[in-house]
Amino acid sequence: AKTSGKRQWRRFRPELRENMAKRHDLRVRLGRAIEEEEFSLLYQPVVDLAAGEVVGFEALARWPHTRRGLVSPLQFIALAEETGQITPLGAWVLRNAAADIARLQSRTARPVPPYVSVNVSARQWRDTGFLGEVRRSLDISGLRPESLQLELTESVLVRRDDHIDALLRTLKNMGIRIAVDDFGTGFSSLRYLRDFPIDVLKIDKTFIDDIPEEPRQVALVEGIIRLADTLGLQVIAEGVEGQAQRELLTSMGCGFGQGFLFAPPMDLGESETVLLRHDDA
Ligand code: C2E
Ligand code: CA
Ligand code: CA
Ligand code: CA
Repeated sequence: AKTSGKRQWRRFRPELRENMAKRHDLRVRLGRAIEEEEFSLLYQPVVDLAAGEVVGFEALARWPHTRRGLVSPLQFIALAEETGQITPLGAWVLRNAAADIARLQSRTARPVPPYVSVNVSARQWRDTGFLGEVRRSLDISGLRPESLQLELTESVLVRRDDHIDALLRTLKNMGIRIAVDDFGTGFSSLRYLRDFPIDVLKIDKTFIDDIPEEPRQVALVEGIIRLADTLGLQVIAEGVEGQAQRELLTSMGCGFGQGFLFAPPMDLGESETVLLRHDDA
């Protein structure tokens, strides 16, 4: 067994090395891309299910790669988190998302202007410079804090943390909303819903996928909606792709939805078109 293990190791080794070289290469190119601001943002509408209206947009980062095609956000965000490059990249996203949506708001007349929701990774939440970055983004863009939502994953809230707690309270007092992304997928207790000032739950797509067919999934989603309701939280269903899902979610009292059924992530121009179309209707 020992020898065959050795042989296997030898067999896989060149591959491993190649992999490391590729990762190193990607890391270097990511660093350059951050310096050159080679990224772009797409916006995916969040829809009020009962009214059928766009209420906000989630900003989603893209790295449009010339030679090797598009690197998926899952890939480059994970790498940026690992290396710490997420700090400058995240700051870029925040500034540009705020500026874009402030501009969009100024071009559309809405009693309640659409908000922008920005993904903030665990590392950024622990970063002492983050609050200043948020303030600067609002100052420079002129975006009202009420028009900004920040997303975090449950991993940020696994244990009581005075820094995170104080940060969330400060943001909340400024008028910024906090959303839990991918709700239900983290290995954490629900205690954080009591301990931290959360405003919104985004139910992960994996729960939405199997409704209405799977009774157990339906029960889970309904339970989450009830829980949120009791706690005074808003709910956004993620990854809504079908009309049957939408109807069931609406009937269960889910306030908001996001997904290909309504619109994919779009560039700012297309987002504006969608918004204007809704204004006319
Ligand atoms: P996420 O925050 O859960 O974002 C939702 C993802 O689901 C997006 O993938 C979106 O394009 C996709 N999606 C939306 N509706 C549907 C649907 O109906 N069906 C399906 N199959 N997919 C749908 P995307 O843009 O590839 O982003 C992947 C992940 O990368 C995001 O997941 C988020 O975790 C991360 N990410 C993207 N941009 C940023 C960023 O600026 N900062 C950070 N920290 N993370 C980001
Ligand atoms: Ca998100
Ligand atoms: Ca999500
Ligand atoms: Ca996700």
